[in-house]
Amino acid sequence: MSDPERLPTSERRALDDMSYREQLAYVLERSTFYRRKLAGSHTGGGLEAIAGLPLTEKAELKATTTADNPFGAHLCVDPSELVRIYSTSGTTGAPSYIPLTAGDLDNWVTGSARSYAASGIATGDRVLTTYNAGPFVAGAALDAFERIGITHIPVGTGTSERLLLAIEQLRPDAVVLTPSYADYLLELADLRGSSVGRVLVAGEPGGGEPAFRAKLEEGWGARVTEAMGIGDVGPSLWGECEEQAGMHLGAAGFVHVELTDPDTGEARELEDGANGELVLTHLRHRAAPLLRFRTRDHVQIWTSPCRCGRTTPRVRCLGRTDDMLIVRGVNVFPSAVREVVGGFAPDVSGRVLVRPRTAGVKQEPPLPVAVELARGTAAGAALADAIRAQLRAALVVQTEVELVAWGSLQRSEYKSRLVDR
Ligand SMILES: [Zn+2]
Repeated sequence: MSDPERLPTSERRALDDMSYREQLAYVLERSTFYRRKLAGSHTGGGLEAIAGLPLTEKAELKATTTADNPFGAHLCVDPSELVRIYSTSGTTGAPSYIPLTAGDLDNWVTGSARSYAASGIATGDRVLTTYNAGPFVAGAALDAFERIGITHIPVGTGTSERLLLAIEQLRPDAVVLTPSYADYLLELADLRGSSVGRVLVAGEPGGGEPAFRAKLEEGWGARVTEAMGIGDVGPSLWGECEEQAGMHLGAAGFVHVELTDPDTGEARELEDGANGELVLTHLRHRAAPLLRFRTRDHVQIWTSPCRCGRTTPRVRCLGRTDDMLIVRGVNVFPSAVREVVGGFAPDVSGRVLVRPRTAGVKQEPPLPVAVELARGTAAGAALADAIRAQLRAALVVQTEVELVAWGSLQRSEYKSRLVDR
């Protein structure tokens, strides 16, 4: 079979269209949830008509769970066919369960393996990972490392000393961690001379922001690439190649990609450079397939050819829609605030915390932002003024910048909190 990552776009689209038609028919036959949801919609077409179908929200799925069916009414198979059940962490309330058939799991591992292999890691490489997968879908990404054929060194989090010792003694070629943790480790050790040549970051936005990436690459003396997935649809669906021009769709053939206006839900053209909320549709899923699922990830997309030869679309995550604030009509992503502030290194540590005055998305200016100073740097009014001016110029937002001492904002071995609600 030809390589789905390098197929001409039109050929891949034709294959995806066929898969989609089968997936839609399958869902209409087996999913109570979608039979009900799509009643009254035109379900006759292929991918060209997909924007006519309603979007799926996570909360809707959750609302159909019962004591007898904890998965939700979108479950399409007999529970005896399930080989694995993951949970999503769920920022609010109880977890959601993600059931998989053997085929679903195999497709997940295939897609994740492509996403991570895009970074350049290959058979013979030693790769140290820090996922405490537990109940979460990242566990399937761990299977992907085995599929690629690398020597896997699982370390997990919670033991930075052990991790640093493993880097020293086992000399891995690559490490896999969140960008926050990659950043934090640089405070604990000088890693420029380590064996690590590739830092693979995932789990939160940030690894693709130029100033933040430059800081990590400089500190590690290594190339930084990122990967991204969404628990309900698949782990590490996307992975960046060595050209570092955005994350390629590793899950090509398994997932269909759309962009929408996050406010109106209207579909946007997948043009080179376009941005919007990422909406994903399973193409070959069996246990609990999702159609037009709102990921709440706000991304920029590129469809132009990549020098690596892959023809799959590439994305960069601009932020989570859930983290977004609207200050006098302007959308502000906390990760974008961090990126602008990062430009003031070496005076700042790069850590920020946005502290909205009121609950909810809409905020009145000025928006309070705590900016952590670099180690040994004293606060100066001129620096705060300069940061405020740059935030206004770059993001069109009025802020109130408070400089805080080095070490006063939280460090994380997992994800950083950028907003204090
Ligand atoms: Zn590429």
